[in-house]
Amino acid sequence: MNQNLLYQHSTLADLTAGLFTGTMSVAELLKHGDTGIGTGDGLDGELIILQGTLYQVTASGDVNVLQPNDQVPFATVNFADYQPETRIQEQSRDATLQQIAAAHPWQNLFYSFQLKGQFSRVKTRSVHKQTKPYQTLEQAAKEQAVFEKQDVSGTMLGYYAPQLYNGVAVGGFHYHFLADDHDFGGHVLDFEVADAELSLEPFTDFQEHFPVNSQAFLNLDFNEHDDVASQIKNAEQ
Ligand SMILES: [Zn+2]
Repeated sequence: MNQNLLYQHSTLADLTAGLFTGTMSVAELLKHGDTGIGTGDGLDGELIILQGTLYQVTASGDVNVLQPNDQVPFATVNFADYQPETRIQEQSRDATLQQIAAAHPWQNLFYSFQLKGQFSRVKTRSVHKQTKPYQTLEQAAKEQAVFEKQDVSGTMLGYYAPQLYNGVAVGGFHYHFLADDHDFGGHVLDFEVADAELSLEPFTDFQEHFPVNSQAFLNLDFNEHDDVASQIKNAEQ
């Protein structure tokens, strides 16, 4: 296995507690990877990073490109080193995720997958930019915008985190989508593959970077946010 590093800025638990203010610039984030997912400043949309470009899918459904000085509160990135795995045709989300999970004995590793090709259906959501004082992620996700598109070609980029790390990341699979025409995307709720190529990248190393310049982070009392697992389930799945 190649020595591949997964880099993450902040944690999902910080996000569930309402730490939505951006704490890392896009320029800094991209030093650590050219591929990834995350959320925008103030929880402004769903992010997907492909080939070094950071796309933001807003709650109005627009797809923007974030600039070097834009800030993000949470993101997971890696340098693309995906190995072709197999072709998947006419398959539901559940069957596809089961196939990915069964492909290698990686249940205790972080790994990433990409599905590139044609999808008969993709259902996504995006969250609205929040204003201070911030509520929790679970509350913000209740007002999410949901989008659905049929017969769309694009890239689905996902990460698997071992259940042990639920809270640091989303335990299990977490995946975002961007259409090839950059007209549709977001945090994926459901999908059906028509014809797509699956590739995988396992990580030998995981680097967690903390938002050390954020007073809100330094002062946060997690005793008041100890129900992280159910918050993640309600907000992300
Ligand atoms: Zn997401």
